[in-house]
Amino acid sequence: MERIYNFSAGPAVLPREVLEQARDELVNWQGCGMSVMEMSHRGKEFMGIAAQAEADLRELMAIPANYKVLFLQGGASAQFAMVPMNLLRGKAGADYLNTGEWSKKAIKEAKKYCAVNVVATSEDKNFSYAPTQDKWALKPDAAYVHYTPNETIGGVEIFWTPQTGDVPLVADMSSTILSRPVDVSKFGLIYAGAQKNIGPAGLTIVIVREDLIGQTVAGTPTMMDYKIHAEAESMYNTPPTYGIYIAGLVFKWLKHNGGLGAMESHNIAKANVLYGYLDTTLFYHCPTAKENRSRMNIPFTLKDAALDEAFLKGAKERGLVQLKGHRSVGGMRASIYNAMPIEGVKILVDYMKAFEQKNG
Ligand SMILES: *Cc1c(COP(=O)(O)O)cnc(C)c1O
Repeated sequence: MERIYNFSAGPAVLPREVLEQARDELVNWQGCGMSVMEMSHRGKEFMGIAAQAEADLRELMAIPANYKVLFLQGGASAQFAMVPMNLLRGKAGADYLNTGEWSKKAIKEAKKYCAVNVVATSEDKNFSYAPTQDKWALKPDAAYVHYTPNETIGGVEIFWTPQTGDVPLVADMSSTILSRPVDVSKFGLIYAGAQKNIGPAGLTIVIVREDLIGQTVAGTPTMMDYKIHAEAESMYNTPPTYGIYIAGLVFKWLKHNGGLGAMESHNIAKANVLYGYLDTTLFYHCPTAKENRSRMNIPFTLKDAALDEAFLKGAKERGLVQLKGHRSVGGMRASIYNAMPIEGVKILVDYMKAFEQKNG
C-alpha cells in the first residue's frame, strides 16, 4: 500500500521527505560508516547534528539569545512537574488556566508542589472554548501563569498571547508549536512533546528564559533540573539522539518550505477546508467555539453516533486513518499537523460528503 493519510493526534504524520532522507541515511550517515543511532552523543558527528538542530529551531522561532533550548525526555507530562519544581523560585503558588484535559493534568501535577490558582475554566461548556483574559482572576504574586494554547483533545486553540506583566508566562505548546509564528519573548517558558509537530516520541523540547532557572525546590532530582541540562547543553546524560536528528530534519524541511509564516498560511487553508464544510452541514457537528477552532485538531460528531463505526470503516477503506475521537469526548477528530498535506484534508471532506449523501 502507498502512504495513507494519518489523522492521528500523536504520534503523528511526519513529512514524507524527512522519512525518505532518514531512510537514505539510516545505515550510513553522510559517509561516516554508521547510523545516527550508533553514534556517541559526545562525538563530533552527533554534536554537529544537535547544534544544527538547535540553530535551525532558533532561526525558525526567532528565539532570543537569553533563552535556552533544551532537548529532554519524559514527554510533556514530565514538564507538568518540572515547571513547578523549577519555576516556583520560592513562591507559594502559580496561576493556571483550565481549558481541557491537558490543562487538568498540568494542574493536578502542580498541586503536588504549590497552591494552584485556577484563573478561569471553560468546564461550564464542556471545554468547548477558552475564556478571554478579561475573565481571568490572575494573582500578582503568582510564580508563573500556565496555559495550554492548543488543547489537543478538545480542539480548542488560543490565538492571542496572554498579557501577564512581570509574571512569567508558561505554555504547553505540544500540539501547536511550529504551526505558526509566536513571539518567544512574551514567554518565560515554552514546552512541547515532539510527537505532534516536531518528530518522533521520546524527545521533549523546552525553551526557557535563562534568568528563571537555577532555583529548584528542595529535593528536585538532578534529571529534573533545567539548569543542569542547560549547562550541559542537553548532554548531561545520553539525550534522545535519534529523535533530535529527526527533529533537525523536520526543522530543515520547515525552513525549506518557507518557515512558520508559510506554515501558518498552509494550516489556515487546510483548516478552512474542513471547518468550511462542517459549517454547511447538519449531518456533522463541530462543538468548538468559532474563535477557538484549532487548526491542528478538529473534533466533530456525526448526527447519529450509531453511524460512527461505519464512518470509520469506510474512511479506512479509503486510506483515511486514526479519525476516532479521544475516548473522553467520543465522535471523530482529525488532526492535521504541519506534515498533513492539503490533499489529505480534501480527500477527507470528499469522503464525508459522500458518507452524508448515503446516510443523511
Ligand atoms: C500530547 C500532549 C501532552 C502529553 O504529551 P506526552 O509527551 O505524551 O507526555 C501534553 N499536553 C498536550 C497539549 C499534548 O497535546
